[in-house]
Amino acid sequence: MRIARFGKDRVGVVLADGVHDVTSVLKALPAHRFPFPRHDPLVANLRKLRAPMKKAATKSRAVRTVRFLSPVANPGKIMAAPVNYTRHLEEALADKGIHHGNLVAEIHKAGIFLKATSSVVGPGEGVRLVHTDRRNDHEVELAVVIGKRGRNIPAEQALGHVAGYCIGLDMTIRGPEERSFRKSPDSYTVLGPWLVTADEVGDPGALDLKIDVNGTTRQEANTRDLILGVPQLIAWASSFYSLHPGDVLLTGTPQGVGPVKPGDVMEATIERIGTMRIDVSAA
Ligand code: MN
Repeated sequence: MRIARFGKDRVGVVLADGVHDVTSVLKALPAHRFPFPRHDPLVANLRKLRAPMKKAATKSRAVRTVRFLSPVANPGKIMAAPVNYTRHLEEALADKGIHHGNLVAEIHKAGIFLKATSSVVGPGEGVRLVHTDRRNDHEVELAVVIGKRGRNIPAEQALGHVAGYCIGLDMTIRGPEERSFRKSPDSYTVLGPWLVTADEVGDPGALDLKIDVNGTTRQEANTRDLILGVPQLIAWASSFYSLHPGDVLLTGTPQGVGPVKPGDVMEATIERIGTMRIDVSAA
């Protein structure tokens, strides 16, 4: 199932004929009052909502007429893997004069980092660059949305904790500051165009992904080249902190990271998920 958020906080199911507004089913969600839960209520209740959503999907509008928001409204945290593709890491290590490094050990040294949840937007909102005097880069990544709470999750059970997947852009300003600071301005995490439930994606370790900027392909890879795959990343992350429904894990970007400037148009695609177009402007 493909679940989208669009327009003014509408929730939709995306079918072959377009986007169906199923916002009415949200009435079934528990009414949360202060203090709010750490999870995203829609993602936490997705299993229960699937049948009512399917039933409510009776009238469609064309995908191209819809302004998509992030499919996750309230992620508790945005986790992100550092360089996690063989060729990209080899490039990065060669820049530092390191050759034939142990790639898994290099990644474990770097750890997983966090991005501000306020950086999240959907493709329809666009990326608004700050500090345009500096280089701002795109990073296309498979984004995993956690569906079930867990801590110390073994890799063999990790995929059972996944609600679904979407395309993620981990935008980055180059510079001397700490990484999460440079990756956390408003709009520097794009999630979309919709969440595809895990059952429809199947193996997250065999997906083509790519990003074009102004019609030229910049990054193109397959998730089979991830050094730490989705199960290993979930196991590693959950050995440090609890994962909650709606938490998002960006799995790392392949080789070919490059700059964008105001006026550029990015188009990102991941196999079995879809394609999203994102306008770049100045904040
Ligand atoms: Mn990244």
